[in-house]
Amino acid sequence: MADALLGPAEIRELATRLGVSPTKKLGQNFLHDPNTIRRIVAAAGLRPDDVALEVGPGLGSLTLGLVGAVRHVHAVEIDPRLAAALPETVAAPNLTVHPADAMRVGAADFDPAPTMLVANLPYNVAVPVVLHLLAGLPTLRGGLVMVQKEVADRLTAGPGSKVYGVPSVKLAWYADARPAGKVPPAVFWPVPNVDSGLVAFLRRTPPRADIDRSDVFAVVDAAFAQRRKTLRAALAGWAGGPQQAEKVLVAAGIAPQARGESLTVAQFAEIAAAAKPSGVGGKLSASGRQPEEVDT
Ligand code: SAM
Repeated sequence: MADALLGPAEIRELATRLGVSPTKKLGQNFLHDPNTIRRIVAAAGLRPDDVALEVGPGLGSLTLGLVGAVRHVHAVEIDPRLAAALPETVAAPNLTVHPADAMRVGAADFDPAPTMLVANLPYNVAVPVVLHLLAGLPTLRGGLVMVQKEVADRLTAGPGSKVYGVPSVKLAWYADARPAGKVPPAVFWPVPNVDSGLVAFLRRTPPRADIDRSDVFAVVDAAFAQRRKTLRAALAGWAGGPQQAEKVLVAAGIAPQARGESLTVAQFAEIAAAAKPSGVGGKLSASGRQPEEVDT
């Protein structure tokens, strides 16, 4: 693998040849450091029989590291110029390039089915992409993603932390996540003005199989929309009033004066479960807001 990885000179040469000038809109910051690629591939905990899904292969830096480590790689790239050039740059028989928006792909698009998500994600859509793929690809057993350090902190935060919020709870519904290291701006071209962070995650069984994910996520969205308020107040709109919110919270075994930032995902699931018999929460969960639509 080491010989084939792209360094700064190769990245510039490729970009010039393809006429690519990186755009902020698509979060295009390309890795040009073979050591970082090796670090990501090692930290991903891949098995030789894994099928990797890479979102945003760009010029192919990470793709080159992945094709030698797993059985198959699916690379989903929204930029048609980059998608078209990838088979030439990587030239591996176990690579399938999908010129597509990662927010629009689903299980039917992939054969063989992906088992691990490994990606240096476009930072502007990182959280929605991770949640969309975990929801739509049940064969994913885990992954390792690089995101803005601040987003990595949020994704891996636990209850009680200042940065614990919607992304933390929603990712926890699907997976156990942990921080897997920091990455400095200098390994990218162009150089971003923030640090990056690695997040490793392994799928877990959701806390309650009998409750719809969208019902739980509706409670999470309502609780964090007004995170400084008590749950009694924050969930009033969702429940149809503060008294109803209090009733549901007590039935779920949660103190009405608690705040959303102190609750585990299992406790959010208990609130959704306690609301079910009385039909509370139907208004918000049916409002059309997609559960993956999260603010990052
Ligand atoms: N993996 C490459 C690397 O590490 O050098 C590039 C990573 S760059 C941070 C993000 C890549 O995601 C870009 O190639 C960009 O075109 C692509 N991208 C942006 N939005 C996307 C989307 N919605 N679906 C798929 N690819 C996307």
